[in-house]
Amino acid sequence: MKENNKNYSIMNIGKFSDFHKKGRITVGEDLNLTGCEISINSLPADQSIPFVHSHKENEEVYIVIQGTGKFIVDGEEFAIQEGSLIRVAPAGQRVLKAGNEELIYLCMQVQNNSLKQATNDDGIIHETKVSWM
Ligand code: ZN
Repeated sequence: MKENNKNYSIMNIGKFSDFHKKGRITVGEDLNLTGCEISINSLPADQSIPFVHSHKENEEVYIVIQGTGKFIVDGEEFAIQEGSLIRVAPAGQRVLKAGNEELIYLCMQVQNNSLKQATNDDGIIHETKVSWM
């Protein structure tokens, strides 16, 4: 993990529409993530992840940015497309395949049952003003 004294980390991976050149990248280290891992992935048309997998402790959320495809969890197949979000529990045996166009998707991996509070319970509103307020 990189040293970072600031309360934020920033990076830019370029346009999602150009992402096919990269295949798969993980950004957790570059962003100093401490609670999840995020990967950005590209599958060329008609190609599949070459294995079915599950996880020991982590749930995953797949967010389809571009394209179409098929997703299988525990033998159940369903169609996915731009805008699809799929949560898979750790034990779910999963695999996905691109349709007739490139599939670009994000995958967030986080420890199952680790969320103790969400935005409304965790957020703190400050009186601080910035230039556009
Ligand atoms: Zn996984």
